[in-house]
Amino acid sequence: MKRVALGILGVLLLFVLLLGGLFASAFIGNSAVQPGVVDGFIHVVSDGYVTLDVLDVGNGQVALIDAGVDKDGKALLAELAAMGVDKKAVTAIFLTHGHGDHIAAIPLFPDAKVYALEADIALAAGEIKGRGLIPRWMPIKPTGVKVSQTVKDGDVIQVGNRAIRVFAIPGHTGGSAAYWIDGALFLGDSAGGSKDGTLHAAPKVFSDDPEQNRASLKTLAARLIAEKLDVKTLIFAHTGWLEGIAPLTTFAQGE
Ligand SMILES: [Zn+2]
Repeated sequence: MKRVALGILGVLLLFVLLLGGLFASAFIGNSAVQPGVVDGFIHVVSDGYVTLDVLDVGNGQVALIDAGVDKDGKALLAELAAMGVDKKAVTAIFLTHGHGDHIAAIPLFPDAKVYALEADIALAAGEIKGRGLIPRWMPIKPTGVKVSQTVKDGDVIQVGNRAIRVFAIPGHTGGSAAYWIDGALFLGDSAGGSKDGTLHAAPKVFSDDPEQNRASLKTLAARLIAEKLDVKTLIFAHTGWLEGIAPLTTFAQGE
């Protein structure tokens, strides 16, 4: 009996080590997050191991790109206070995707409109789990997050003085979105910045479909160029940001 128990313990330990190794490998080489103000209107807020963004949309109002991993929203609320606004100033929250580390503080803003692509609504609500190698082991738990505004690829949504262009870039999750706002491109987890200044695709172990993720990034690069959308800054959720469109087009050329 003792031997069997030890055997089971050994297998469990190996499993934990393997998952831990996979988890760590997804972050090796990432550039460090750079909290602060980018392009004059984007406040990048560090929230544990993820970032979220507060956008000044004029008239004392703000919009969020994602809502972090902290359900108490400590870092986010501190940033709002530093900007001289309160919770009521948050009128819109745009989700790059429905993973739990991007949505936690949403229930703090019951009056804000919550925007997401349809394919990630159930994921954000905690009704289903992600299909990636690691997310599929996470428990299913209702999050209290209700997406009130379903967006589609190509939509342009006006929030205050900012027009927000929606791109569907499925792969990391089925409903992963990129948002282009006045030269800043928000990619969530669909890509990241490396220490050497290059762009990398989403970590495979967290992604529903890594192949589709890479294909979506390639298509996105082509569409941005075809539509002559100027990209000044590439902003990611788990790494520092990168300047210009070049890191994305260089990645796309390698695909
Ligand atoms: Zn994710």
